Amino acid sequence: MRFEIVARDPGSAARRGRLYTPHGVIDTPVFMPVGTRGTVKAMTPEMLDSLGVPILLANTYHLYLRPGHETIRALGGLHRFIGWPRALLTDSGGFQIMSLQELREVTEEGVRFQSHLDGSSHWLSPERVVEIQLALGADIMMILDQCLEYPATHESAERAMNLTGRWAKRAKEFWQRRAISRLATTAASGDPEAPLAIHQSTDSALFGIVQGGVYRDLRRTSAEQMQEVGFEGYAIGGLGVGEPKAETYSVAEFTAALLPKDQPRYLMGVGTPEDLVECVALGIDMFDCVMPTRNARNGCLFTSQGKLAIKSARYARDANPVDAACGCFVCRKYSRAFLRHLFAVGEMLGAILGTYHNLYFYLDTMRKIRDAIGSGEYNKLWSRVRAANGGLNF
Ligand SMILES: [Zn+2]
Repeated sequence: MRFEIVARDPGSAARRGRLYTPHGVIDTPVFMPVGTRGTVKAMTPEMLDSLGVPILLANTYHLYLRPGHETIRALGGLHRFIGWPRALLTDSGGFQIMSLQELREVTEEGVRFQSHLDGSSHWLSPERVVEIQLALGADIMMILDQCLEYPATHESAERAMNLTGRWAKRAKEFWQRRAISRLATTAASGDPEAPLAIHQSTDSALFGIVQGGVYRDLRRTSAEQMQEVGFEGYAIGGLGVGEPKAETYSVAEFTAALLPKDQPRYLMGVGTPEDLVECVALGIDMFDCVMPTRNARNGCLFTSQGKLAIKSARYARDANPVDAACGCFVCRKYSRAFLRHLFAVGEMLGAILGTYHNLYFYLDTMRKIRDAIGSGEYNKLWSRVRAANGGLNF
């Protein structure tokens, strides 16, 4: 995997870049829709393609439990299994496992947990999590980390941060051993597709995750630990877990500045359209969040004028589109009244149209952000969004 920065904003840390993956080139800053179980809820891969989505996020924890990584490996890997030709990022499952609370036990070796589905017992280590993601065949894989809830004491945040650091080293060593053995096996096989397989096995990337809660000293140590191990990109984890918004931005800014200037930075699980604009200015290149898709299914639509609760009775006879400033097919063709009706009677098309519009809005926001960085006018866009107070009136 290769990352190049093609423009920097003179007035902030924002940068525009290109990420070269085995499944296509990604323009950054980028928003990655969440396809928890190998599918973005209410969307077909064809719809995601028409939205211009260059990369999806899938959840290792969920796919490991169902249908199982070995099943997916046997069916040719996750791309083929889900019919998605572009890039995929898989998380490590750390966040989901840590959310299980009573159902897990964290030790130096790894995590033992009970499935949220049937209570069956499972064991994951830093090495095993890499092994599972290799079976899935993701373009970008994440290390196993220990993510804490907010608030966490300095002592517990320090313990989790140091454990994540030791796990990072083990994940990287395993990753390297596996890459070397895969190369040797493929080269010796005489398979005519060997050159392609070698290309793919060497071109996927492993990202480290910086933890440390809201504590600056821990974030600094964690960033140093991760860079000592050395990864192809660095994520900022453990934010957007309930801390005040000002703290999210402040910790993200502090941490992003500690990361290598020429490698991708990924802020995990954040956030709202305003968060994207704010955090790009801090030097973040990659985002993921369930918000556009989950909110859409609940009838909450993002527009240039702010959020719109489409279920409200006030839209029952509203012939206007969801957002007159939006170029998506939903806004060009359908009225608020029709969408409101679909939600009111529980038709699944409501979730489909709402999700399509929300994802279009997020991707369009990222396009505008990239254009503004490219033309050196990011600061202007940033001030306009701050002034709009809740809307994104570019
Ligand atoms: Zn729209």
